[in-house]
Amino acid sequence: MVKENLKIVEEKIAGACERAGRDRKEVTLIAVSKTKPVEMIREAMDTGIVTFGENKVKELLEKQSVLSEPLNWHMIGHLQRNKVRQLVGRVKRIHSVDSLRLAEQIQNDFSKHSVIADILVEVNMAKEESKYGFMPEETEDAIRKIATFPNIRVHGLMTIAPLVEDPDENRLYFRDLKKLLVDINNKNIDNINMDELSMGMTGDYEVAIEEGATYIRVGTGIFGNRIYL
Ligand SMILES: *Cc1c(COP(=O)(O)O)cnc(C)c1O
Repeated sequence: MVKENLKIVEEKIAGACERAGRDRKEVTLIAVSKTKPVEMIREAMDTGIVTFGENKVKELLEKQSVLSEPLNWHMIGHLQRNKVRQLVGRVKRIHSVDSLRLAEQIQNDFSKHSVIADILVEVNMAKEESKYGFMPEETEDAIRKIATFPNIRVHGLMTIAPLVEDPDENRLYFRDLKKLLVDINNKNIDNINMDELSMGMTGDYEVAIEEGATYIRVGTGIFGNRIYL
């Protein structure tokens, strides 16, 4: 099932890239394997996928310890500060830096091991009560502060768009996230030159690609529905 699903996802990515006049290489597919077993990850690996996303530290580390192959692990879920130290040297990106207190914790824990944390700053574009992330208008100030942390490199912005019927409803949030990235880059803040946009999930990744996503995070579309016990 995973292989067939990936074929469909890959075709949709290619279509969206073509419509947007973008090179397929500009978009990295993150296979979001949360709640799914290692066997399904292996199935994805068999088709050449090496990039996986998890939203819980424990689950990420457990899967990482079972799979000895070199894979790129992305932490995409809300991160508790007392778990940050477990991620030192273990993840390609932390997508979900959603508060200054979390950024400070990352700076502390990563500096103890002289490791650079490669992160994205999460923005709550639709200003949903239920979501984490900086408000769009707070984001520049937050980044100015994080830019002074020597062990953090800010690569870009991430957003989780609302759950909608018609993915086109999220187009403006994606477009505005890209604008925010360009605006902040234009402020010429020391150490800030962002080129990554993590946006788009199973329901809306094609629209996100059309609006400039460089990372899409696809779970259900690859691994099927999740069952939470
Ligand atoms: C679970 C999750 C995804 C994947 O969601 P799907 O709708 O299953 O593709 C993407 N991003 C984040 C932050 C998630 O927690």
